Amino acid sequence: MKIKKGDTVKITSGNDKGKTGKVIRAFGNAGKIVVEGVNIRKKHVRPKRQGQKGEIVRIPAPFLVSRAMLLCPKCGKLIRPGMILHEDSVKVRICKKCSAEI
Ligand SMILES: [Zn+2]
Repeated sequence: MKIKKGDTVKITSGNDKGKTGKVIRAFGNAGKIVVEGVNIRKKHVRPKRQGQKGEIVRIPAPFLVSRAMLLCPKCGKLIRPGMILHEDSVKVRICKKCSAEI
């Protein structure tokens, strides 16, 4: 997967279209990511003790990475990153617009 934890992405489809946020989790196998403030699900939490109130917590749920595009930290453009292989066979991710390693 070309998007990883710590990246900043922009949502390109669905209810959260147009939002930007930081990737807080990435599930490579499932092709899904969790982004701060995006795809919020409400979860009811039952009171743990008597006399305590139950509450609703809002947690961001995973969604398909194809619904987001990466924001290049160097040039600030929306990109689909490319991968190149260095001579020492280390894979690096690059921005196709400004050619920076990101
Ligand atoms: Zn760039």
